[in-house]
Amino acid sequence: MESALTARDRVGVQDFVLLENFTSEAAFIENLRKRFKENLIYTYIGSVLVSVNPYKELEIYTKNHMERYRGVNFYEVSPHIYAVADNSYRSMRSERKDQCILISGESGAGKTEASKKILQYYAVTCPASEQVQTVKDRLLQSNPVLEAFGNAKTLRNDNSSRFGKYMDIQFDFKGAPVGGHIINYLLEKSRVVHQNHGERNFHIFYQLIEGGEEDLLRRLGLERNPQQYQYLVKGNCPKVSSINDRSDWKVVRKALSVIGFNEDDVEELLNIIASVLHLGNVQYGGEEGNACITSDTQIKYLARLLGVNGAVLTEALTHKKIIAKGEELMSPLNLEQASSARDALSKAVYGRTFTWLVNKINTSLTYKVHTHTHTHTHTLVDGLLSSHFYLCCSFEQFCINYCNEKLQQLFIELTLKSEQEEYEAEGITWEPVQYFNNKIICDLVEEKFKGIISILDEECLRPGDASDITFLEKLEDIVGGHPHFVTHKLADAKTRKVMGRDEFRLQHYAGEVNYNVNGFLDKNNDLLFRNLKEVMCMSENKILTQCFDREELSDKKRPDTAATQFKASLAKLMEILMSKEPSYVRCIKPNDSKQAGRFDEVLIRHQVKYLGLMENLRVRRAGFAYRRRYEVFLQRYKSLCPDTWPNWQGKLSEGVAVLVKHLGYKPEEYKLGRSKIFIRFPKTLFATEDALETR
Ligand code: ADP
Repeated sequence: MESALTARDRVGVQDFVLLENFTSEAAFIENLRKRFKENLIYTYIGSVLVSVNPYKELEIYTKNHMERYRGVNFYEVSPHIYAVADNSYRSMRSERKDQCILISGESGAGKTEASKKILQYYAVTCPASEQVQTVKDRLLQSNPVLEAFGNAKTLRNDNSSRFGKYMDIQFDFKGAPVGGHIINYLLEKSRVVHQNHGERNFHIFYQLIEGGEEDLLRRLGLERNPQQYQYLVKGNCPKVSSINDRSDWKVVRKALSVIGFNEDDVEELLNIIASVLHLGNVQYGGEEGNACITSDTQIKYLARLLGVNGAVLTEALTHKKIIAKGEELMSPLNLEQASSARDALSKAVYGRTFTWLVNKINTSLTYKVHTHTHTHTHTLVDGLLSSHFYLCCSFEQFCINYCNEKLQQLFIELTLKSEQEEYEAEGITWEPVQYFNNKIICDLVEEKFKGIISILDEECLRPGDASDITFLEKLEDIVGGHPHFVTHKLADAKTRKVMGRDEFRLQHYAGEVNYNVNGFLDKNNDLLFRNLKEVMCMSENKILTQCFDREELSDKKRPDTAATQFKASLAKLMEILMSKEPSYVRCIKPNDSKQAGRFDEVLIRHQVKYLGLMENLRVRRAGFAYRRRYEVFLQRYKSLCPDTWPNWQGKLSEGVAVLVKHLGYKPEEYKLGRSKIFIRFPKTLFATEDALETR
């Protein structure tokens, strides 16, 4: 048999806290690499699970595997997503405390897969009844629907979710899943009207065109050719080899009915999807300052599908209502304004329909009979810092990176807190840990009055000459002296070389990112002209009547800006997360080409950095590398000492004390707590492991 030592050489350690050289990033990555080569994609940092996307199917998700992880101790079996799911589930049941599993990583790292695996684990291992079965089915089926409407092919991931998602599963007192709730935030709406080269719009458009039945397409006025649609040709990639739009269409249609959408709902929903495509094909002509629509084919379809008056819609797509001297006037739009009004309408219609869809799924997941419901929450947060820092980022990325900054803050705080609590519970003196507190960056972004978001909002409200550039100048005035902020003008010569004049740079916890201010004001305003809103409020489409509320029109107050809405939803998310006991899954993407077996070290090093893994390990290793409950420790090593073999009759703690004394542990190497032994250095443990092997 292979000795423990050579096995360790070959497959690395299954918990990074056991790395001898725990401050070395190189050692960390080497350990990941060794394990990845052996198809061991999971490794712990204490209770945090690090997962590397294998880009191939592994035989580790069978029913047998699920059984193996059921009810066993976290550390007794090799690291696995099922262990996290099971552990969290059992804490919920035994401690009656709400749990959450936070899954993070960049696009393509495996977050969605991880969440599916957790759901499948619960679907198989939790107790079931017929009612419960319905909820389970709906929970599982909500995935393909959300993916169709919220995911798209990007350069980095063929099935990338373009929205933040947070999913709650409620269990009853018997431990059966009885309901769920999904919160969505920050859908990348700009994708509806524009895609970068090599990327696609949201899947649903292609699914409908490829998979929709003949008479359905006829009713919707669509042709079976994505190239016909302006909103689908920008990325020049209608087909993706790994995606079968036609069969996905069938999956989505079925899922919609399992979730409880009736035929009318589906029809109205598809009317909207089709009308977005028709909107994209609305072409403008006419004189420069006076846009008009050149063909009325689209308008005819739009009027029918959206259930609005064609003439009123035409006017709203070419004019803007202004109020002068108390009178309402229609002022013509120029070509550029008209196109952007049209695109704003498409984005608003799609974005609001998506939110409606999520709410509808939530209604179908609601279950209100049990009173003793314990909530168990899964959080999926998408995006994360792009690992290509040289890329110049936009407003959306700014929001996502701000979200990551907040999550990192929470993560470090909670990790420290749980460490401290464990020490206290075990009666061991806490040794303070130095760490980088990123509050300073969070404040820079979100502080009232002088944070970046406040400054942006103020520029958005200011009438007159406000522009992206005046926003940049305001930033320089107000936060120019901040140690984490710089612009071209303020930078030293070296930094200036890698910055544009219309950029600002933030020093995030994970690295520097340049943001181009172009589009910040527009995107933050997210304005839809009033007369377009009015048209939509008159719609007879049942979904749209729920999406566009007449109250919006009467309300004189400006709606919150996009960044402020996002800030508020983040604050709410943080509050929810703080109230629960978290587990973490950190996903890593091994390469950019979606290939099995390829370990791209540069790419991985970036991710290790922005996932904050070294910091996490440092906090976790600051005191003791290893800790185990007395009975587990004794059970494993009792054969190494004649006094504890074959059975120790006295108190467990005394048995462990006798055992480690016999093994020659020095006082500075370990501490005995109330229920656990704490071992400071991995080498102590390894020596004991090796003794076991060579006994
Ligand atoms: P993310 O949600 O982080 O953007 P996904 O979960 O969609 O990424 O993963 C991208 C792709 O990688 C998946 O479609 C799948 O092909 C592959 N993948 C991810 N995790 C696994 C896994 N555990 N086993 C096999 N393939 C995986």
